[in-house]
Amino acid sequence: MVYRHEFGDEAVKEYEILKGIRKREETISTAQVELQPKYCPICHESNKYNAKFCLKCNFTISIEGAIENRDKESLALKESESQEQELVEVKARMVLLEENASNLLRVVAGITNEVVINTWTDKQGLLQARFA
Ligand SMILES: [Zn+2]
Repeated sequence: MVYRHEFGDEAVKEYEILKGIRKREETISTAQVELQPKYCPICHESNKYNAKFCLKCNFTISIEGAIENRDKESLALKESESQEQELVEVKARMVLLEENASNLLRVVAGITNEVVINTWTDKQGLLQARFA
């Protein structure tokens, strides 16, 4: 007579975990996964299984959350670069206006008789007109 041992599902599962064939997490069903809280590694708050960010401290606790953060950061970087470019242009225009004003003062004061008008156009860049 051959002895046959019938393993129950639980026993098979425990055996496979013991032998390193499967990890315990891999033996959990989808329904069970959805019941597992996701603990925040920072503040240890218990969050819903599908939470992107910690409810309590807002720490990123999922890949989806990390992707969301990355997208926001890249958008913010683009905005900041565009604002920086605008600031450079505004500063350049101010320098031109100051030069115009200082030239006009020199004309009025009789230091020079040459009128220089500087302007900036988006298409042609610096344009300068000189009258004597
Ligand atoms: Zn937290």
